[in-house]
Amino acid sequence: MASIKTYTGIITICGSCGQPSFTDNEVGHQHFKEQWDGVYCPRYPLAGERIQIDWDEMSLEQVKAEYPDTYPYSSKLPAV
Ligand SMILES: [Zn+2]
Repeated sequence: MASIKTYTGIITICGSCGQPSFTDNEVGHQHFKEQWDGVYCPRYPLAGERIQIDWDEMSLEQVKAEYPDTYPYSSKLPAV
């Protein structure tokens, strides 16, 4: 899965949950890795209707930099 923080393609919005999404040629319209446990989308990891945004460059950079990352990396698991 792609990371929103490093994705350089066009970022759209999912019409089902209102969160960022992107499209690749193999899978289609889908969500980002960071949204693993952080969005309730009925179609996750795919995404609903694709909504195009006329991003302001600064806004897009802020969204990418500050988007919460809820992907379950092993390093985030509590120590036993
Ligand atoms: Zn969605």
